[in-house]
Amino acid sequence: MNAILNFLKNFADSDEEKRVPIRSAKIAREKLTKKSSGITHAVTETYTGATVIARAEHNVSRNHVSENALKVLHKLKKEGFDAYLVGGCVRDLLLGREPKDFDVVTNALPEQLARLFSNCRIIGKRFRLAHIVYGRDIVEVATFRKSSGDSPNDAQRLTKEGRIVQDNLYGTIDDDVWRRDFTINALYYNIRDFSIIDYVGGMADHKASLIRLIGDTAERFREDPVRMLRAVRFAVKLGFKMHEDCEREIPANANLLTSVPAARLHDEVVKLFLTGHGVQTFEMLRHYGLFEVLFPSVEKILAHEEAHFPRMMVINVLQNSDDRIAENKPVTSYFLFAAFLYEPMLHLAKEKMAKGMLESDAYFSASSEILTQQIRRITVPRHLTLAIREIWNNQAKFEFRFGAKPSKFLAHPRFRAAYDFFLLRAQIGSASAESAEWWTIYQTVNETERRKMTQPQAQAKSTKPKRKRNYRRKAKTAVVPNPSN
Ligand code: ATP
Ligand code: MG
Repeated sequence: MNAILNFLKNFADSDEEKRVPIRSAKIAREKLTKKSSGITHAVTETYTGATVIARAEHNVSRNHVSENALKVLHKLKKEGFDAYLVGGCVRDLLLGREPKDFDVVTNALPEQLARLFSNCRIIGKRFRLAHIVYGRDIVEVATFRKSSGDSPNDAQRLTKEGRIVQDNLYGTIDDDVWRRDFTINALYYNIRDFSIIDYVGGMADHKASLIRLIGDTAERFREDPVRMLRAVRFAVKLGFKMHEDCEREIPANANLLTSVPAARLHDEVVKLFLTGHGVQTFEMLRHYGLFEVLFPSVEKILAHEEAHFPRMMVINVLQNSDDRIAENKPVTSYFLFAAFLYEPMLHLAKEKMAKGMLESDAYFSASSEILTQQIRRITVPRHLTLAIREIWNNQAKFEFRFGAKPSKFLAHPRFRAAYDFFLLRAQIGSASAESAEWWTIYQTVNETERRKMTQPQAQAKSTKPKRKRNYRRKAKTAVVPNPSN
């Protein structure tokens, strides 16, 4: 029954979609005013200089749009507002990929959205956005905004380097498109007739698999240096090439990332490294000189590495994360940071010991220094820096395999993270493989076996060569009391 209903629904959808004719480049819609929901407004669909790709000419289908995003789009349409899908979801749908989320853009103002949707939350300081909340699913709805050039007004503020710090001036779709980053991220899917509106040659760049900024590349990177990280992220995720302007301007502007608030970089770094393409992303960030700005202490060690440990550590932790993501297993940013910063911390601790500091003090002080330096660049919340320190401190505990210590350590709430980290070290030869194997077995056997494994004789027996047994009978000797006793 469901199959039949779905078939009929799909049939109706595709039929409706195909009825839309191919439209010309510049379209002006009849202006409507409506007073439902007590809101008065007008539909203003004019696309100056854009190409409109009718439904029959592209492959984006509503069947692949989330139910909740469709609800939002239809409601806005019904209330007489313009409503489009935009950004990553249109890009991904065109490529036949499942979008991570669906971003909606409209001419309704945040306050109007709040009145239209009872499940609406207005968020953001720099950008005011509406979140329409459906349980755990959130549809983000933004109001059209203007880009920098058109607004000498105080709704948009730039720093003296040209970085945007506030940008809350509302506009039309004609304005909105120019403030988007890449041509492939600036395609609008119109819920009214299922067409795609392309102002910037996004469809052509899609076909050419090209990452190209809208407008002047250097200026757009200066406005928001995070766009350089986004360029790398999309190039890797989609398997696209960098446009030659990006090739040239990213290394030239990489250092501008130092001016980006550290809190914003944490989220970007998580997206860069923990979405399944960590190894490739790392290589590309290094290629463009971005990695050294994000993780200066790690780059210093990588540039002067004597053994191959630092690089192998970074590559291995990223490969492990990529594998875990592919298997739908959880990954955490603190584990990644712990692995990235471990060798720099050890290196610094050794320098401190060479200057006469006690071992334990040297590790403590090196950990603090490395983490403090890092969080100046990328925010790591305090509970996570504590978790990183704990992983590092716990490494020494893997050396104790006798008595009660192993079972106590096993019960430690963060044993698992420390153990995974120890395995990572063992993989690259920075910790004993034999010890790693012992701990792996220790976790799987029962209590009795565990007790046996932690007896000194058990380990002595297993490691020392057995003495040959002498089968010759000893001659019986008379026990003669010692007269001196
Ligand atoms: P994904 O969600 O798959 O990571 P996305 O392109 O949707 O990719 P979002 O961060 O969700 O990325 O942003 C949605 C859209 O907002 C982008 O496609 C782009 O049009 C615009 N955008 C996001 N960040 C910027 C930025 N820093 N500068 C200009 N436009 C941006
Ligand atoms: Mg998105």
